[in-house]
Amino acid sequence: MRLDIITLFPELASFPLSQSIIGRAQQKGIVRVCAVNPRDYTNDKHRTTDERPYGGGAGMVMKPDPLFAAVEDVRTDSSTVILLSPQGHPFTQKRAQELAEEKHIVLVCGHYEGVDERVRQSLVDDEISIGDYVLTNGALAALVIADAVIRLLPGALGCAESSEKESFADREWLEFPQYTRPPDFRGMRIPDVLLSGNHKRIEEWRQRQRLLRTAARRPDLLHKDTETTHE
Ligand code: SAM
Repeated sequence: MRLDIITLFPELASFPLSQSIIGRAQQKGIVRVCAVNPRDYTNDKHRTTDERPYGGGAGMVMKPDPLFAAVEDVRTDSSTVILLSPQGHPFTQKRAQELAEEKHIVLVCGHYEGVDERVRQSLVDDEISIGDYVLTNGALAALVIADAVIRLLPGALGCAESSEKESFADREWLEFPQYTRPPDFRGMRIPDVLLSGNHKRIEEWRQRQRLLRTAARRPDLLHKDTETTHE
């Protein structure tokens, strides 16, 4: 996969993706991430990427021309271009799984008051929000999406099962509680079943824990699951 992040802050977008699992995925050639600065696509002496909004009001708006030029430079026929925006479709694990099937993703990051409306209207294929809150710029949101997508690419995680049996994966339930050594820490013992060596019982315990945990913390996911089953 190739992933381009169009941002005024290329270093902010690049560094976190050079670390740990995602950094290794890049080294292994599973993904190639490039941060592209729209400032490099300006034609004026001041390399202007933002202007005051028509009609007045607070802040600055990102100009369409550098963003169009940057995207048009990197885009191919098989690219999916996504604008990061608090007004976009909510990002989910399902969307991450869909994006992991793409060949080339271009993430367009806004800043200041956001981007000129014509970017939404005719440059991008989709708009994604990472949650109902407002960040100062889209680079942080792009990192969230890049991380969630890249870790799903074949070979990115040491063990593929990790991403198949985690929260939101197969039936959108939460994961069961995890324990590691020591078995007794400050009087807190791990459940006996995990020391039993009986894989069938352990699996039953885990499935039950998933259900209980999802019901307690995210009952909305169970309703969603029932709706999907009845479809
Ligand atoms: N004025 C805009 C509004 O009220 O909808 C908010 C602009 S925000 C300060 C600047 C940029 O940060 C946005 O253009 C977007 O790229 C990014 N951003 C902020 N919050 C986001 C979120 N929840 N999800 C995705 N991107 C976000």
